[in-house]
Amino acid sequence: MQLATSFIDQELTYIKGVGPSRSELLKNELSIVSIRDILVDYPTRYEDRTQFQLIKDIRTGNDVVQIRGVITSLATVGTGRKKRLVGHFKDKSGSVELVWFRSIRWLQENLETHKPYIVFGRVSKFGRRLSIAHPELELVTQQKLKSTATFVPIYRSTERLGASGLDSKGRRKIVRTILAQLKDEDLPEHMPEYLVKKLHFPSYKDALHYIHFPPDNEALRKAEQRLKFEELFLIQLTIVKQYVTRRKLLKGHLFPEIGDYFNDFYANHLPFSLTGAQKRVLKEIRRDFKSGQQMNRLLQGDVGSGKTIVALMSMLMALDNGFQACLMAPTEILAQQHMAGICELLAKTKIRVAILTGSIKGKTRQEVLKLLRLGEIHFLVGTHALIEEHVQFKHLGLAIIDEQHRFGVAQRAKLWEKGKSKPPHILVMTATPIPRTLHMTLYGDLDVSALDELPPGRKPVKTQHKTEYHRPAVYKFVKEQIAAGRQIYIVYPLIEESEHLDLENLDSGYERLLADFPPPSYQISVVHGRMKQEQKDFEMQRFVSGKTHLMVATTVIEVGVNVPNASVMIIENSERFGLSQLHQLRGRVGRGADQSYCILMTSFKLTHEAKERINTMVSTNDGFEIAEVDLRLRGPGSMAGTQQSGLPTLKLANLVRDNVLLKTAREIAMRILDKDPDLRSVHHLPLRAYLEKYVEDAKDWSKIS
Ligand code: ADP
Ligand code: MG
Repeated sequence: MQLATSFIDQELTYIKGVGPSRSELLKNELSIVSIRDILVDYPTRYEDRTQFQLIKDIRTGNDVVQIRGVITSLATVGTGRKKRLVGHFKDKSGSVELVWFRSIRWLQENLETHKPYIVFGRVSKFGRRLSIAHPELELVTQQKLKSTATFVPIYRSTERLGASGLDSKGRRKIVRTILAQLKDEDLPEHMPEYLVKKLHFPSYKDALHYIHFPPDNEALRKAEQRLKFEELFLIQLTIVKQYVTRRKLLKGHLFPEIGDYFNDFYANHLPFSLTGAQKRVLKEIRRDFKSGQQMNRLLQGDVGSGKTIVALMSMLMALDNGFQACLMAPTEILAQQHMAGICELLAKTKIRVAILTGSIKGKTRQEVLKLLRLGEIHFLVGTHALIEEHVQFKHLGLAIIDEQHRFGVAQRAKLWEKGKSKPPHILVMTATPIPRTLHMTLYGDLDVSALDELPPGRKPVKTQHKTEYHRPAVYKFVKEQIAAGRQIYIVYPLIEESEHLDLENLDSGYERLLADFPPPSYQISVVHGRMKQEQKDFEMQRFVSGKTHLMVATTVIEVGVNVPNASVMIIENSERFGLSQLHQLRGRVGRGADQSYCILMTSFKLTHEAKERINTMVSTNDGFEIAEVDLRLRGPGSMAGTQQSGLPTLKLANLVRDNVLLKTAREIAMRILDKDPDLRSVHHLPLRAYLEKYVEDAKDWSKIS
């Protein structure tokens, strides 16, 4: 004999009216297998059936209406494939025609004339005749009248499901049958009782009833609140648990000392005083170094907020404790820029810095590798080349990754292996601010620091919106800037569907520019995605060294490049860019002493959303504010960095709209796990059982505890 599974986990075939073929369909089309599955496949929306219309008030065809009246006659019309059943339906104000092409026999036997019905359906208008094909019909009994007057759930469906009677109406029947059969013990409360009480939530069972068949608006709202909260809460429990466990298990190198290297640099070589934010972040990093746990920290800081100096001073802390450190950049150019900057800052110290990139070859490379193994190189700067297998450190204590979104998770993991006895501390730096609500969910496993203050004296970039009409004036302005010794970026969008178009776009732009900015007075560099890396580097270098006045590029210059003399950024077809991308691009200017400008060129006609993007760019320079708008406009799924980090799928909750609930959920999850890390108290046992059974990532709850 088989052990009885609980009712709720049984397959749907056990439910009257489902049967093997329908249950197979539900499985294939919607992955609904068990009774529970169909219960938690919530309605996508509701139709308000608390209102009835009068037939005389139906004005246009194609309206969905609900009317009350009687069928006065019922007869078949036509023959063969044109055969249909036609009924006349009257209320006190007028009449409509009801038409059926299927199930004619059954309907003829079951529909009754001159009895009160409620009809629901979409009206078609033929001349003055109103007609509803395949309406939903319900006989009105005294009791039915009450139960019908409510919100009717609409479920997701597919063509195949619809053809098998599993449209919303069919689904409603099944769910009703199930709910009627449910006993209290089938849906025990899994959330802690004290929480349900405190938050004024309905019980689990009630919530499921209300979400499918809400008696009124208030009940629906409460059910939604509870189920949304629960969704976010269970995810947060899992994330917080993993975070706590990792911190407990992963031992890291101890850097107890602040020593000569750091102190000497701080006192004698730091060219400016640190901002408050830089000091705060350094303290946060120092706290990690002293904790005995491995640091996994994300440093968010807008372009120009001064992440490099934070990186360098963290590296000095590692060095003071006898460890090496490395700094990894996504491109060769950026690695070189870091190398040059760091060498300049450390010029008067004895610290040995080396660079390792793909273009460092032969004897030089062998020498770097040897010195690195011997521990004679203190800091290594480089690209992906750093994580190649044969690169061996003597004792790597800290690895810093700049502009993280170019590095995959797997590559990060490779870095971990570079540590000998323990993984190195990891600091990931990014200039793409991620709204708080998102990183609670995305980077639950990382600690987050924010450089939310720019160094003093920075002149904010002036941003303007221009159209084709202004182009002559824009070019005139560009020429004035060049005459004053400045350099200019002109960026064209990448057209992802077609590399060809993309190039054409850039090419024709380039042709036009050549006419307006003719050589030899004007020199133009071009960089695009299909050029070889060496070619790109060569062109970039010409611009960096001031040999060219204009840099025409696709978005390849987005990340990190520093040309302080470039003071104007023109973005063509800027309506095609996402907000965070525009912000990143704008970050390429405003790096020198001069006033900088960002000019957003667009076509005349803009969509509402494009307008909002452009207006946001014109009105603010604050990356965090821009990220919030971006999140609101595009949703969390399309934000930079979310793809590889894996967003949880949510049924009801929305990370943007429900961010208050999310915050509460996270706080409560933290408080609970703080007191009861393994959920072993009586209050939490049902929760733990539920997590182990139903929440994918928490399956090994017992193992991670
Ligand atoms: P990002 O965060 O974009 O990597 P950088 O580290 O490249 O920013 O810093 C941008 C510029 O600001 C650099 O020229 C750097 O020397 C300068 N800078 C950084 N911190 C300060 C500070 N506290 N005061 C003045 N200038 C600073
Ligand atoms: Mg940087």
